[in-house]
Amino acid sequence: MDLSIVVPLYNEEESLRELVEWIARVCQGRYEFEVLLVDDGSRDKSWEVIESLAQQHPWVLGVKFLRNYGKSAALNTGFGIAKGNVVITMDADLQDSPDEIPELYDMIINQGFDLVSGWKRKRHDPLSKTIPTKLFNWATRKMSGIYLHDFNCGLKAYKLKVVKSIDVYGEMHRYIPVIAKWQGFSKITEKVVAHQPRKYGVTKFGLERFVFGFLDLMTISFVSRFMKRPMHFFGSIGALMTMIGFFLALGIGINKIYCLYYHVPAILVVKSPFFYIALTLMIIGSQLFLAGFLAELISRSTLKNDYLIEDKVNLN
Ligand code: UDP
Ligand code: MG
Repeated sequence: MDLSIVVPLYNEEESLRELVEWIARVCQGRYEFEVLLVDDGSRDKSWEVIESLAQQHPWVLGVKFLRNYGKSAALNTGFGIAKGNVVITMDADLQDSPDEIPELYDMIINQGFDLVSGWKRKRHDPLSKTIPTKLFNWATRKMSGIYLHDFNCGLKAYKLKVVKSIDVYGEMHRYIPVIAKWQGFSKITEKVVAHQPRKYGVTKFGLERFVFGFLDLMTISFVSRFMKRPMHFFGSIGALMTMIGFFLALGIGINKIYCLYYHVPAILVVKSPFFYIALTLMIIGSQLFLAGFLAELISRSTLKNDYLIEDKVNLN
């Protein structure tokens, strides 16, 4: 199969039929394709619409979640099912245009990119959303070293093996390019895409997306670096703190003994502020060390090795 189009949706009954018909106009006769509608626990008539679309068209496939698990879960499920050599994700609200499909397909197949991310250069969203978005994209660029203008665009195209080897959980759909890069897919680029104002329904994400988004960015940059070696992070900070604390305490002790020996008047050890600093450093330091050790045990017993092998020779 050439192409899988994955559409996560939550309460989008009004736009589904229009979207699927538009996709059909673009793709029919051109590709062997499937449209995978992942209903993220909608409470409106979305699933009825999907069932009737699936009856009409054999290339419409649908999955429905028991409840609303979030866009990442919907995408991840779609990625698990997709069979096309190229996988394109797109929002259900008609803000992304199916007319972009042929060019995205061409960039993956003929120009050899692993991932092409849409860039809504001209956005049709309220200012309260576009300004925080700029900040969010800037921070993600700095943190990940991937120079995309618009990480969170719903319209993206992937090689099949990219979607099969990444795990999108929680709210991590905002960082799929970052996850893909850390998996080793480096041919990542962007393409300017048209963006329409939302035609029906309402946005499913409020302003809290930016707060959570930044926390997720911290998680992901930490996890990607230290998930498989937590002791390197906790252990090094912990050991450093404990050591500073220890030498500080040692200094205080030596100084006290020196004063006693030569009968120099000195304050009580417990009256020195350095004593408390040393104590705190040693306690926190050994706690961090312990945290690192526990994290190491957990990662050892739960993590599988998921290295990606690109090629082999004389091996099957
Ligand atoms: N969506 C989803 N599950 C959710 C929230 C959103 O599947 O919990 C879908 C939604 O139906 C749409 C896409 O994700 O197809 C993008 O959502 P939305 O258009 O509300 O986001 P915005 O365009 O405001 O960023
Ligand atoms: Mg939208």
